[in-house]
Amino acid sequence: MAEKILAKDQLDQFLGKLAEGREVFAPQDVEGKVAWAPLEAAADLLWDFSNSDMSPKDYFFPQTECMMRFVNKADDEMGMIMQAEPELNTPRALINMRPCDAKAFQVLDLIFMQDEMTDDFYWRDKREKSLLVGLACNDPCPTCFCTSVGCGPHHETGLDVLLVDLGDKLLVKAVSDKAAELLAELPEAEQADLDQAAELKKAAEDMVEANVGVATDQLEGREVMELYEAALWPRVAESCLNCGTCTYCCPTCHCFDIQDEVQGDEGRRVRNWDNCMSWLFTVHGTGHNPRGSKTHRVRQRFMHKFKYIPDKRGGEIGCVGCGRCVQLCPVNIDVRSVVNDMNA
Ligand code: SF4
Ligand code: SF4
Repeated sequence: MAEKILAKDQLDQFLGKLAEGREVFAPQDVEGKVAWAPLEAAADLLWDFSNSDMSPKDYFFPQTECMMRFVNKADDEMGMIMQAEPELNTPRALINMRPCDAKAFQVLDLIFMQDEMTDDFYWRDKREKSLLVGLACNDPCPTCFCTSVGCGPHHETGLDVLLVDLGDKLLVKAVSDKAAELLAELPEAEQADLDQAAELKKAAEDMVEANVGVATDQLEGREVMELYEAALWPRVAESCLNCGTCTYCCPTCHCFDIQDEVQGDEGRRVRNWDNCMSWLFTVHGTGHNPRGSKTHRVRQRFMHKFKYIPDKRGGEIGCVGCGRCVQLCPVNIDVRSVVNDMNA
């Protein structure tokens, strides 16, 4: 489908159509922070922001998610009745998602929906019922390094629609068939609009490439044990607090813990975000912990994203270069310098 044009003063009508049968969410100013929230009106959409502090992954992988409920059978009967948790009732649209966050969902699809054995119903249900409308980055921030990990500021992977901000109008590009009906009545873009979008893309890519990036070209050829035993890990681990901030803000981190919560004769099974930086994450019932030191845990985070995932998932890197962990780590551990050291 050819690129279309959406004037910003027509956004209310567009959002009205988007909201037919869907709940709509977008990054907004929430008490001075850029955060994802339900969208009430086009006027609440942001156009000048780098990215939300937290990724939108919790729309697909909530911090706490009920997996099923159970109740003891009545009186003298033995056993329990299991009740499946209902599917997502109302489809969703997420608008103004940055391309790195959409690319992260594609990485997580490889984890949660790779084959029959790993098919995660909870993830797939929400993914299939969601429409993702991206907003290209025209002004990336200094911690972005998406172009060095297979993504980019105008990247389309994982999106259904990509918007490019052209000032008082948006260039609208259909990426999947999901949004064809939504865009059908919009006017086609003119050559000048396409040229302006191409210039903005080039300028944004140049800005990202001028930032510190990561080199990963040597990692595929390295043996796992060689990287595992590299001398850098104790040095990186020394300053790490194991606070987990880098994992909770990361759009590709996906560790979870499953617990049963019981009250009287009934309960529910929930899964909660967990993180590989936590000592408790891998501790066994015996008390043994195969990742018992900080060095073990710090190494796991970087090896997982930059060695284990690419080796097992067709070369896909488990990082999209969003830069959140660089901005939020309280002791300034910078994924870019760690990975460049690994690569060297
Ligand atoms: S945010 Fe920084 S200090 Fe906290 S666990 Fe991650 S690397 Fe360690
Ligand atoms: S590791 Fe850091 S830069 Fe990479 S995707 Fe996660 S939060 Fe973003």
